[in-house]
Amino acid sequence: MAASGKVASFRLPPLPTIGEIIKLYNLRAERQLSQNFLLDLRLTDKIIRQAGNLKNACVCEVGPGPGGLTRSILNAGAADLLVVEKDKRFIPGLEQLLSEAAPGRVRIVHGDILTYRMDQSFPAHTAKKWEDEPPDLHIIGNLPFSVSTPLIITWLEQMANRSGPFVFGRTRLTLTFQKEVAERLTASTGSRQRSRLSVMAQYLSTVKNCFTIPGRAFVPKPDVDVGVVHFTPLAQPQIQQPFKLVQKLVRNVFQFRGKHCHRGLEMLFPEAKRLELAEELLRSADVDPTLRPVQLSMAHFRALADAYGRLCRENHELIGYDFREELRQKHQRQRRSSKSKEPHPH
Ligand code: SAM
Repeated sequence: MAASGKVASFRLPPLPTIGEIIKLYNLRAERQLSQNFLLDLRLTDKIIRQAGNLKNACVCEVGPGPGGLTRSILNAGAADLLVVEKDKRFIPGLEQLLSEAAPGRVRIVHGDILTYRMDQSFPAHTAKKWEDEPPDLHIIGNLPFSVSTPLIITWLEQMANRSGPFVFGRTRLTLTFQKEVAERLTASTGSRQRSRLSVMAQYLSTVKNCFTIPGRAFVPKPDVDVGVVHFTPLAQPQIQQPFKLVQKLVRNVFQFRGKHCHRGLEMLFPEAKRLELAEELLRSADVDPTLRPVQLSMAHFRALADAYGRLCRENHELIGYDFREELRQKHQRQRRSSKSKEPHPH
């Protein structure tokens, strides 16, 4: 139920503070669920500013909890806010806060963002063509770290396939991560933090590590600091190969981070043809086999993905090949043959 018409940009009327809501509804943070709340409105406003102009925008907030960030999103003028919260204890507090503060502008969903179908959650007129400017639709969230990392992988895959929240076009994301993960997401070629996540995020989007929030700003305080990261999907991804193929290539490269890159790339191929095909891959991509994984630029990954794509088209078994599976079968055969050689008990 999107609110129609313009939304005035005045701040919300005086409401119970988030601290009062927490007390009123007895919303103790569940440490096991990594619930760390942001209660300082200046800080939540600062996070929301990273998303860009939210005046009259559609927003999906993931994990609103007691509603601190939610309040800042509404103060910024969002016209249609969908919040998805897994923990049902928060729902009555959110209903009270939002029915008083922003009637008709908010939909509350009690659900799990990992399975929630966002492709059906906003009106069709919100959508923009992929090549156009991003739509006026934002995803914002301060989620537990155990959720935000698998979730960003899922969203990157959906970004590549233009599904989920990306059926509406280049939907922008503003999310929090453990500081080290935020650094990995934005790490450039050659930096210590360069990793699988850096390549996967940056081939599909412009990623900005906006600022760091010290752990002490959260209640209760987590053991780590937190980075706010903003993603804008690229109109032209830097690698034009299927997501799963790129993911497999990048995972293989980084599994031996400290070694020359040919070491991880070799594992893309069955043992019998490993060296020969890895050499062909590197030659055809024109990549120096002695570069370390962190030294590979996006252009190197693009050339490797294109060359690996060609090899997979020539040999259909390659894409499904998994060296761990080959190794497992080899060990099984060895166990069977050594058992058959054992003397039979009388
Ligand atoms: N956004 C609030 C804030 O900044 O104070 C709460 C942050 S707390 C770190 C994370 C919130 O995400 C909690 O309310 C938790 O219940 C919710 N959450 C955790 N996993 C979730 C999931 N899979 N789907 C939706 N919400 C989830």
